[in-house]
Amino acid sequence: MTHCESMSLIEFQQRFPDDEACENYLFEARWPNGFHCPKCGHDYFYFHSSYGLLQCTNSNCRHQTSLTAETIMRKTRTPLYKWLWAIFLYSRDKRGISATTLRKQIGVSHWGAWTMLQKIRKTMVSKDSRHMLDSLIEIDDAFIGHGGKRGRGTKKAKVVVSASITEGGKPQFAQMDVVSDHSQASFLSHVQKSVVNGGKIKTDGFKGYNKLSDSAYTLR
Ligand SMILES: [Zn+2]
Repeated sequence: MTHCESMSLIEFQQRFPDDEACENYLFEARWPNGFHCPKCGHDYFYFHSSYGLLQCTNSNCRHQTSLTAETIMRKTRTPLYKWLWAIFLYSRDKRGISATTLRKQIGVSHWGAWTMLQKIRKTMVSKDSRHMLDSLIEIDDAFIGHGGKRGRGTKKAKVVVSASITEGGKPQFAQMDVVSDHSQASFLSHVQKSVVNGGKIKTDGFKGYNKLSDSAYTLR
C-alpha cells in the first residue's frame, strides 16, 4: 500500500475512515485514469455497491469485475477498512504483529486475524523478493567493477537491469541479475524472472536482445 509505512495512526484513520474511502482508494489504484473495462476497453460502468461489483455498460460485454479482484482481499467478507487497517499495522511493525494483537485491534475472530496475516505476509514477502515489472520496461546490460576494459567484452561482473518506466520515461521499479555473460539466453532468463508476459521492452538496439521478441515480449 502506498506510503502507509510513513503515515501516522491519525493520518491513516482520517484517510480511511470507512469502506467507501477504501473503495475509492482501490478504484484510484487500479484505474488512475478512470475506469477501463478489462475485457472490451469501454469507459463506463454501473457500481453494484451491495456486491462491490463494477459492471461494464457496453451491452455486448457486461463484464463484471470487483474492486478487490487480484488482491488479497478477493472475495473477502471482512470489511475493506479492516483489511487496510491490518496491512497498515503489519507494515508499521517490522517484527510482525501477532494474530492476537490484530484480533483485538480490528475486531475480527482469531482465525480471521490469523488468515489475514498469512495472506499479508505472503504478499509482502513475494513483493519484496521479486516484483514483476509490467507495461513499459527499459532493459540494459552493464558491468560492475573498477578499471580494465570498458564496454561489452570486459572481465568485470556482468549484470542485466530492467526497470519499469512511465510513458514519460520516469523509472518506477527495477530488477537486476548478475549473469555469466551477455548472451541472448542470459537476457531471456532475466526477463522471464522479472517481466510479466506481454511486457513492452525498450532496448538500446543491441542484437543480443532480439530473441526476446520470439518469446512473450514486444520490443520497442
Ligand atoms: Zn466491457
